[in-house]
Amino acid sequence: MGFDYFTQFARLFFPKNCEACGRNLLKSETMLCTNCFYHIPKTKFHEEKDNILNRLFYGITNITYSTAFFYFHKASKYRILIHKLKYKGQKEIGIQLGRMAGTEINGSFFDETNVVIPVPLHPAKKRLRGYNQSEMIAKGLCETSGKELLTDVLIRQKFTETQTKKNLEARRENVSSAFKVVKPEILRGKHVLLIDDVVTTGSTLIACADEILKTEKTKVSIFVLGFAVQ
Ligand SMILES: [Zn+2]
Repeated sequence: MGFDYFTQFARLFFPKNCEACGRNLLKSETMLCTNCFYHIPKTKFHEEKDNILNRLFYGITNITYSTAFFYFHKASKYRILIHKLKYKGQKEIGIQLGRMAGTEINGSFFDETNVVIPVPLHPAKKRLRGYNQSEMIAKGLCETSGKELLTDVLIRQKFTETQTKKNLEARRENVSSAFKVVKPEILRGKHVLLIDDVVTTGSTLIACADEILKTEKTKVSIFVLGFAVQ
């Protein structure tokens, strides 16, 4: 039986496609085909305390550990996953990638983190999208890592205008004071794992970390799904 015959046959019963390359999925595959799953360009930053993501925060804010699940560039097929999660309503992609990432970081420095906080969206933006994509990633990550998800401790109180046309200084100005910890008693003594979908300049993560660190005896580490490379 040829491979093509088999995939044609499978298509009749499992009409799902790989979210990265579009190939038909087999029954044993979830979201990604085996090929795309095994070739995720993982950063492995969680194995190294000093890495290029963590260096982004040196001298700016006090981040304990930082990691990203995978690298992506402009033409990467893995970038499509983030696009579908953010703009196409496919929140399940975030949950599934979060689950994979949670498994990936188990047994690393990140075991020291005990609560997970997704970067909040402004309520108006959340209503528009229907969900917070970072919260979906956090949900999946908590499922496989056993950490506690906190979604009502850090809030976004300012609707920031689009960041893309601003330089780093202007971006930082734009997001500083956008976030507020509303239940500091819950955070005291906790090592927070802060979650975002992608990192480019880090200005949003810095603003969130600065706000969390105002509560005494807290630590902040960072997890992002995608790390953009040129
Ligand atoms: Zn694929």
